[in-house]
Amino acid sequence: MDDTRSRQVVIAGAGVAGLTAAVAFAERGYCVRVFEQAPRLEAAGAGIQLSPNATRILRQLGVLDRLLPAAVRPEAVVLKDAATLRELARVPLGQAGERRWGAPYLVAHRADLQSALMARVAEMPDIHLTTGARVGSVATGPHGITATAEIDGRTIEAEGLLLVGADGVWSSVRRLVDSAQRATSSRSRFSGELAWRATIRADSAAGQAFAAIGATNCVTTFLHPGFHMVAYPVSKGAAFNLAAFTKGDRIAEGWSGNGDAGILTGALRGTAAGLTRLVEQAGPWTAWPIHTVDPQQSWTTPTGIALIGDAAHAMTPFAAQGAAMAIEDAATLAAVVADLPADPLAGLAVWEQLRRPRVAQVTRRGAVNRLAWHAAGPVAIARNLFLKVRSSEKLAADLDWLYGWQPQIIRR
Ligand SMILES: Cc1cc2nc3c(=O)[nH]c(=O)nc-3n(C[C@H](O)[C@H](O)[C@H](O)COP(=O)(O)OP(=O)(O)OC[C@H]3O[C@@H](n4cnc5c(N)ncnc54)[C@H](O)[C@@H]3O)c2cc1C
Repeated sequence: MDDTRSRQVVIAGAGVAGLTAAVAFAERGYCVRVFEQAPRLEAAGAGIQLSPNATRILRQLGVLDRLLPAAVRPEAVVLKDAATLRELARVPLGQAGERRWGAPYLVAHRADLQSALMARVAEMPDIHLTTGARVGSVATGPHGITATAEIDGRTIEAEGLLLVGADGVWSSVRRLVDSAQRATSSRSRFSGELAWRATIRADSAAGQAFAAIGATNCVTTFLHPGFHMVAYPVSKGAAFNLAAFTKGDRIAEGWSGNGDAGILTGALRGTAAGLTRLVEQAGPWTAWPIHTVDPQQSWTTPTGIALIGDAAHAMTPFAAQGAAMAIEDAATLAAVVADLPADPLAGLAVWEQLRRPRVAQVTRRGAVNRLAWHAAGPVAIARNLFLKVRSSEKLAADLDWLYGWQPQIIRR
């Protein structure tokens, strides 16, 4: 492979995974070509929680300082019983969390995260981002990869050492990996659950309804059989992001849609009047079908394709870790490839082996959270008892493996 090509990386997708990968590779001296199918970069969804395992990497990549002015550092995660509004548990975040995990826990508007990543991208002359360009095919061979993107009916080619598929849950690059591995079944599937999202101004009637029942400077989670709702401040506290989770039907093979609002009101049966009032006042709600990607099949090929973020292993959002895993994937992939200059493609398999146990553990944590938060009857009673006897300190220590995670191989 010629020298220029061996220092070039092509990325499909400019979401959290793709933009973080672009910065991480450019930091290590690679020339990066990013193709994004959307004509403009728009952050899908409203709020995002960024735990210390993610913000630590954003700090190393020079992104965090650009995000901090718009983000909020919540004081704690507060779990409440949705029927009684009684506080069940409190996990300290804020300064205590930052001391404990070495980086801040943040909540932000997704657009603020995207702006921070884009501001960093704009400073790096070796990153070339093209929007309105959909990656459709890739040729691989001993001289590296050649990816083909369609722009306004035109076809352009980009050569490089590798193609990074950061193109989300409905990834086209994944199909290329699957056909290379002769895999037949579709990997993405509807989880049977809907996420309902709304953003409310803090000074609106809905904002006041939330202030009456929640903790405005915290991440508040209301737990109920078959339902939970997470609420936290965004935009420096000027607004609150609400995300409620219920069972529901598949809406469409896309992100947001109009779900039947009756599902949400039905799921609220038995919750406190204050919470029902908040949900009524906060509308209109946008419903998001939750899709996951089976992580079992390969994320890499020996010929130079790697899947990261949701394209590789979209998970349910019950641990609030999908974007954090995308950020970890991106930074570790760049580190492993750069650290094996003699055989960077062999680094792809090394990277995949390194990431699999971590992603599996985080996925399991999401499944446990879902069971615990949506529990009913004796299981809910046992959960509440467990949370009552477990100190805040112990609850924080239970998260050390997740938030205190260090990317051992990342150098700057
Ligand atoms: C309700 C909900 C709440 C969540 N909350 C959190 C949270 O609090 N914290 C957290 O860490 N995670 C959270 N997540 C998960 C998180 O949103 C995702 O894991 C994360 O956004 C995935 O980023 P990504 O870059 O891999 O994919 P995406 O954000 O989907 O980006 C993929 C990009 O690729 C582009 N693309 C697609 N195909 C092509 C192609 N062929 N060529 C070029 N471009 C292409 C798309 O247009 C898109 O811009 C939540 C998810 C949901 C559903």
